[in-house]
Amino acid sequence: MKVYISVDMEGITGIVDASQGSAPGIDYGLGRRLMTAEAAAAAQGALDAGAGEVIVCDGHGSNGFRNILIEDLPEDAKLISGDSRSMGQMEGLDGEYDAIVLVGYHARHGKEGVLNHTINGGAIYEIRINGKAVGEFAINAYLAGHFDVPVVLVTGDNSLAEEVREVTPWIRTLELKRAVGRHAAWSLHPSRARALIRAAVTEELEKRAAAAPLKLELPAEVEIDFKYSSMADKASTLHGIRRAEGTGVRFDAPDARVAYTRILAAVDYGASAANSPMKSAPPKPPGV
Ligand SMILES: [Zn+2]
Repeated sequence: MKVYISVDMEGITGIVDASQGSAPGIDYGLGRRLMTAEAAAAAQGALDAGAGEVIVCDGHGSNGFRNILIEDLPEDAKLISGDSRSMGQMEGLDGEYDAIVLVGYHARHGKEGVLNHTINGGAIYEIRINGKAVGEFAINAYLAGHFDVPVVLVTGDNSLAEEVREVTPWIRTLELKRAVGRHAAWSLHPSRARALIRAAVTEELEKRAAAAPLKLELPAEVEIDFKYSSMADKASTLHGIRRAEGTGVRFDAPDARVAYTRILAAVDYGASAANSPMKSAPPKPPGV
C-alpha cells in the first residue's frame, strides 16, 4: 500500500495566525514543529496500517514549501519539500497511490474558518469549478480523482469539516480546533490531536477499499475571481485563459489535471500583477 499525505499548516491545532506559518520569528518555529508532529502522526498511522510506502508532501507555500522538519518524521516516511513544483500541494501524485490523507487544511475564502483563504490569500476572492465555489480541499480532491485515488481523511477546523461535508459527505474529517474568528480558535492539545490523527489514518486505510474518489464532470468550466482587476488582466494573457467581467478570468479544462495546473499558473501569474491600492497595501498572502 502506497499512501500520500499532503500537509498544510493553517489547520494544525494551535495555529491561529499567519505569523505562526511564516518566517522569521519564534512563532514560526513553534508552527513548524506543530505541523511536523501532525505530519509524523499521520505517517505513523499509515505505517501502523501496513503501508509499504508513505510519502509526506509539505503543502504550505510559505518559506518555499520548506516547513516540515524532516528528521522528526518516522524513518520509513519520505518527504517532498521545496518550491519549483507544478502540482503544488499534490506534487508527485500519480495513479500508483492507494489513498490520500490531507492534514492541517483550512476553509476556503468566503467561509468563516481559521486563516481561511484559497491558494493565495492576497490575490483570490473565489474559485468556482462548474459553478460551485471550491477551496484547496476540493481542488486537490478533484486532482486525486483524476488519478482514481480516494481522499480518506481530512483534518483541520470545524469550518473546513463543514466544507468537506458539502462536497464529499463520505470523507471522514477530524475537527482539531473550533474557529472563534479568522485569527482565533479553541484548539485541542497537540498530543491529543496527534493521537486522534494517528488512529484515524489507520482506521480509514484499513477500510480504504470502500473509499470513493471525487470525480470531476468534464469538460470542466473554471472561473477565478481575483481581488484586483489588474490580476485578472495579467492572468488572461496566459494561453487558453479568457478575461471575464469584473475581476475574473475563466477557462475550460478537458480533465482535472489540466484544471489544476492551470489554476495554479493563473493564480501565481495573476498575483504578480502590479497594483496601486487606493488606501493601504493588500494583506501579505499567508501562502498556500
Ligand atoms: Zn498553507
